[in-house]
Amino acid sequence: DYQIHIIGGGLAGSEAAWQLAEQGVKVRLSEMRGAPEEKGGEMTPAHQTDGLAELVCSNSFRSDDAERNAVGLLHREMRDLGSLIMAMGDKHKVPAGSALAVDRDGFSESVTRALAEHPNIELTRERIDALPSEGPTIVATGPLTAMSLAKSIGAATEADALAFFDAIAPIVHVESIDMDICWKASRWGKSNDEGGDGDDYINCPMTEKQYLAFHQGLIHGEKTSFKEWEKDTPYFDGCMPIEIMAERGLDTLRYGPMKPVGLDNPHSATPEHPEGRWPHAVVQLRQDNALGTLWNMVGFQTKLKHGAQVELFRTIPGLEKAEFARLGGLHRNTFINAPKLLDSELRLKTAPHIRFAGQITGCEGYVESSAVGLIAGRMAAAELRGEMLPPLPAETAFGALIGHITGGADADSYQPMNVNFGLFPPLDEKVHKKQRKEAMTGRAREAMRGWLRAIGEEIRDAA
Ligand code: FAD
Repeated sequence: DYQIHIIGGGLAGSEAAWQLAEQGVKVRLSEMRGAPEEKGGEMTPAHQTDGLAELVCSNSFRSDDAERNAVGLLHREMRDLGSLIMAMGDKHKVPAGSALAVDRDGFSESVTRALAEHPNIELTRERIDALPSEGPTIVATGPLTAMSLAKSIGAATEADALAFFDAIAPIVHVESIDMDICWKASRWGKSNDEGGDGDDYINCPMTEKQYLAFHQGLIHGEKTSFKEWEKDTPYFDGCMPIEIMAERGLDTLRYGPMKPVGLDNPHSATPEHPEGRWPHAVVQLRQDNALGTLWNMVGFQTKLKHGAQVELFRTIPGLEKAEFARLGGLHRNTFINAPKLLDSELRLKTAPHIRFAGQITGCEGYVESSAVGLIAGRMAAAELRGEMLPPLPAETAFGALIGHITGGADADSYQPMNVNFGLFPPLDEKVHKKQRKEAMTGRAREAMRGWLRAIGEEIRDAA
């Protein structure tokens, strides 16, 4: 006897269940870990226990600085909304400077107990193998969703809208790109009408010498390796790491993502060649969000270690001072193309009784996944009352993150993303670089205050 079914008792499912239960909704929460065999009991390749909200790797919720860090701001907004994950994280905090790190066992045990003891929650240990055909549902099965359910999700969504691997190319804050070196153009200068891409790309030119050094850097740079269980899932050529392409031959990249043909560099124009010459190789960046603040390095998914990426990618002409909103990667990660499939309320457009929450929506990380779970829970609770949650202001961390997932991101290049200031609308006035973060978070706090009032709640600055 329940009003909503939540599948997956990880970070997002736990938070969603708590929010719904606290709003008086009867919840069934299904978690496959800890289930008996006949109910499909199964571990994911990363989880070690049957505790809810288990942290599978690091024990850090990252920065807790709400004034100068986007994830710190998200912490505070989650506390405003009575987050169980944040309350238990705060309760089990261990020393970690300005970061919030937690005792993972104490944390998971407390979340499990709070949910198991809640009178509105029926915690069931069972694996769910198909999307329910009716009844309000939240799917929060995470990056390692059981294969049976993943297949059911794949069947309910369009071809190519469910990925089993992320192929993360680095993303750069646009204002850190040196446009005196780079230029905007598409190949052969073709406009959209001519079947081209308009001047949709930012191009970084390389000389032969720079290309050779870069090629060596890719081959010799320090890499992370695939986990044993990741090796079994084949990845497609479309998401091959850039360093593997480099290993295939000196010029493989020049025939692939670093192809220079058709890209006249206007900065190299001379009276004889007023249009400029083609460089030896080109790194292209493509706009990644509707605001145009973030640009991704096309085809640059990589298993290079983060430090090695920053060092090597800043040798690319025009990116010497690049600030990265995200670095590249490649991991097992089940996620849907949310900008394409979900409406602004996180519901599947073709089956609106189903909401998605957590990392399966294409957000990344413990905190972001919990946050999306929290909002999915609040949205579902409002819907069950016959109401609608007012839209989250884009200036808040919640609004920026949910806006990105449900439409702000480019669906064609959609890849998992942490919360970051590049997802927020740019500031109106010219604020000095040093004050920009505080200005963003100050603006967010005001917007959050207004939104909370609209739903009859108050900011909890004391937390
Ligand atoms: P999860 O927390 O994974 O929860 C999903 C739950 O659904 C699980 O409990 C699972 O058992 C259950 N489930 C799956 N399928 C079914 C089914 N069919 N029926 C019933 N239950 C099901 N994030 C960080 O912030 N820091 C890190 O250091 C970090 N390291 C990571 C390392 C690895 C190897 C992986 C895979 C991920 C890592 N992440 C990290 C990402 C982090 O795990 C996720 O962001 C977060 O756990 C996602 O929360 P979630 O609730 O969406 O999914």
